[in-house]
Amino acid sequence: MKKELSIAIIGAGAAGCFCAINLKRMLTSSNVHLFESKSKALAKVAVTGGGRCNLTNTFKGIKNLQEVYPRGEKLMRRALSVFSSEDTCAWFEKEGVKLVTQEDECVFPQSQDAMQIVNKLLYNIKELGIELHLNERVTSIDIKKWDKVVVTTGGHAMPQGFQLLEGLDIPIEMPVPSLFTFNVEGDWHQQLMGNVVDNVKAFIPGTKFRSQGSLLLTHWGMSGPAILKLSSYAARYLAERDYRSPLCINWMGGRTEQEVRQLLQEMKQDQAQKLVTSVYPQCFTSKLWGVLLDRMGIPMTQRWGALNTKHINRMLSVLIADIYQITGRCPFKEEFVTCGGVSLKAININTLQSKQYPSLYFAGEVLDVDAVTGGFNLQAAWSMGYVVAKHIFTSYQIINQKS
Ligand SMILES: Cc1cc2nc3c(=O)[nH]c(=O)nc-3n(C[C@H](O)[C@H](O)[C@H](O)COP(=O)(O)OP(=O)(O)OC[C@H]3O[C@@H](n4cnc5c(N)ncnc54)[C@H](O)[C@@H]3O)c2cc1C
Repeated sequence: MKKELSIAIIGAGAAGCFCAINLKRMLTSSNVHLFESKSKALAKVAVTGGGRCNLTNTFKGIKNLQEVYPRGEKLMRRALSVFSSEDTCAWFEKEGVKLVTQEDECVFPQSQDAMQIVNKLLYNIKELGIELHLNERVTSIDIKKWDKVVVTTGGHAMPQGFQLLEGLDIPIEMPVPSLFTFNVEGDWHQQLMGNVVDNVKAFIPGTKFRSQGSLLLTHWGMSGPAILKLSSYAARYLAERDYRSPLCINWMGGRTEQEVRQLLQEMKQDQAQKLVTSVYPQCFTSKLWGVLLDRMGIPMTQRWGALNTKHINRMLSVLIADIYQITGRCPFKEEFVTCGGVSLKAININTLQSKQYPSLYFAGEVLDVDAVTGGFNLQAAWSMGYVVAKHIFTSYQIINQKS
């Protein structure tokens, strides 16, 4: 007679719930228990995407997965080959959730309501007879008590969050925050709050960390996609330096020195009679251009035609390599994740199974996998939850075919 599997999933977030539902559908005879320390399951999903839930991304235009998964790119390549973003869209649409794709390739429920995703998953959990244990914090793992244990406890900013793994000797990569905005030295940005430059290149001098995208000036410093991506790429580097580091901005979207020099020479020639304050590159607002002129040390009364070589060089250096000082970080309210977690060295990245304990699995942000903003983090949770469900199902079938 086939054995009924008894499975414990610890953490009823995106990865845990998705794993439980798919597993129970594949292995209807299994007893799936889902443990959640809070009074509600999927509490984080309810607030994702500012309450709209950016549940995935089309991945169009992503040439290298490392761009979006700075940690866990290899694992995600395998997981996406098993359960892709197309599979996510098809899965939710089959459940009756209509989806919309924005111009920036982010996918949301058409209702623009994260609760539609939460309620759909909760409905499935109930309908399938998955036993949801709310208000039950698991403090240690008794592997022998269960046939399979899946840990989906999410990211934790502090190492204490991984307490339940104590005793199992599982290596943990030190957790640090990812996806934050930069506090920048000085108060010059306060008057520029809300100014956006569509395409800048941001990088940390002397490192390989660089990103491109739009930049938003805030009361405390800088935000926007270019900064959030850079905070993700350099999460560990910046944490080690207590969030103090120089930051270099190419305000001209990565245009080369030669290209910008040519543009400035053309402006000098074509706009000779105009004041430097009245004509400037299109990407700037007049307020931001005024602040940059100040950084260049060029008087507001100067005319383009009167700029000498020294002026042009000073303009050039601010436009393509403007140096600021990061003095701290601020959480990005729309989304933040943890860099670090269970080391990928401890698991088989194809099956998400522990190398030490074959009946133990990990999925979601508890692993040292995290992404930039844009729906990639939830996609990681769906893909990994599915991979674990499928592997438990397949290995069960193999064992039963043999016996
Ligand atoms: C404000 C905000 C907005 C976000 N918006 C987006 C977005 O729009 N798109 C996107 O892709 N990503 C977004 N993210 C990131 C995304 O929500 C996470 O990456 C994702 O939820 C991770 O899923 P998970 O299941 O691994 O962890 P979680 O969703 O964190 O779930 C883990 C669960 O485990 C429970 N738990 C922890 N320890 C225990 C224990 N010992 N015993 C029992 N239960 C336990 C927790 O209470 C929690 O419910 C956002 C994050 C935040 C904070």
